[in-house]
Amino acid sequence: AVADTSRRIAVLGSTGSIGRNTIEVIRASKGRLRATVLSAHSRLDLLIEQARELKPRYLVASDEQTAAEQSWKGLPKETELLVGRKALEQAAGCDDVDVVLAAIVGSAGVRSTLAALKTGKTVALANKETLVTAGPIVRKLLDDQRKKNPAAPERLLPVDSEHSAVFQSLACGRRDEVERIVLTASGGPFRTWAREQLAQVTVDEALAHPTWEMGPKITIDSATMMNKALEVIEARWLFDIPPDRIKVMIHPQSVIHSMVEFVDGSVVAQLGPPDMKLPIQHALEYPRRLPGPAERLDWTRNHELRFEPADFDRFPALSLGFECAEQGGTSGAVLNAANEAAVQSFLEGDLHFTEIVPACRSILEAHDFDANPTLERLEELDLWAREEIHSWVCA
Ligand code: NAD
Ligand code: MG
Repeated sequence: AVADTSRRIAVLGSTGSIGRNTIEVIRASKGRLRATVLSAHSRLDLLIEQARELKPRYLVASDEQTAAEQSWKGLPKETELLVGRKALEQAAGCDDVDVVLAAIVGSAGVRSTLAALKTGKTVALANKETLVTAGPIVRKLLDDQRKKNPAAPERLLPVDSEHSAVFQSLACGRRDEVERIVLTASGGPFRTWAREQLAQVTVDEALAHPTWEMGPKITIDSATMMNKALEVIEARWLFDIPPDRIKVMIHPQSVIHSMVEFVDGSVVAQLGPPDMKLPIQHALEYPRRLPGPAERLDWTRNHELRFEPADFDRFPALSLGFECAEQGGTSGAVLNAANEAAVQSFLEGDLHFTEIVPACRSILEAHDFDANPTLERLEELDLWAREEIHSWVCA
């Protein structure tokens, strides 16, 4: 019966890399999946084009200024335009939505994801920053909802490929039978570079990812391996697992998306070509599996799948990730905001590639740690950390 019901999807961040892949999945679903909300912050021409095709109930332009400069002629008659940051929360919680695909980049996506969870929507989570920054708050929310309704289906479904792989692998055993989670990492474009070479990295080199095509922010994070650091924190809160049970392995082919090792030594993995349409579809359709547009592994040719231990000396972001996962509280929010601002400065040519992580570390160490922060406190620290990066760059 489940396979017959259609689902109404809010695609928050529909013009981005994940957003566009999501629309491909929706398009291929033969009407099973329907986009009832689309949102974007910029590139509003593309947003309007998407609205013409998909005829959503609501269209959200989250940036007031770009929205005011845009001509909104030619919207479908059934589509209502909403403007501003608050509109994201309103649309995420509205009656016309079953699943919120959270694909806004950065901590800008946190409030709308929380609004969706609080109003009882299922969330397909690409915005890892929600768990990195507000992990303790989300964990408590999910635990409370679980206590009230122990039999309810999973409400927070990972889109991040590693976490989707772990989620799928976890189905092979009970939670108390898990020994560890092994997150795989491509190693990024500088996997084999020496420390001295890393100091010379240019923006173009850092933007050229060997296996994945993604937005600019996460592409730089893959080059510094901060992305894996954030994913360790994401896994800690999503799966409620202590960080000493999380391991990172380099796997340059990006075919094994991550693994779960059980107490008996059995390791279960999920494989597929590096194509985000698969984890997106898995989260949107869960628990059903249906044919879809994701690429397939080619079983007529040779494949070589390699693992290497991660190098914490050349990629010190990894240590930061484990430390923040261990500390919890405000650490994730500060690390995330400092990194977002540092990546922006690197992209603008104001910060060297190898300064990104030391800048984040010094700001993290200087911050006023709080083990049980409110969302408002996390947002204050987010702004503070960005300003600290700004002073670091200007110094
Ligand atoms: P992107 O830069 O390609 O797209 C970002 C989207 O968010 C766009 O629609 C943009 O308009 C919107 N946006 C940007 N700033 C905003 C703001 N301040 N307020 C509201 N909306 C805003 O990013 P992406 O690569 O698609 O990544 C989206 C999220 O998914 C990130 O959290 C990223 O870490 C995660 N993710 C991405 C991939 C990938 O393959 N691209 C893989 C795993 C996880
Ligand atoms: Mg990932």
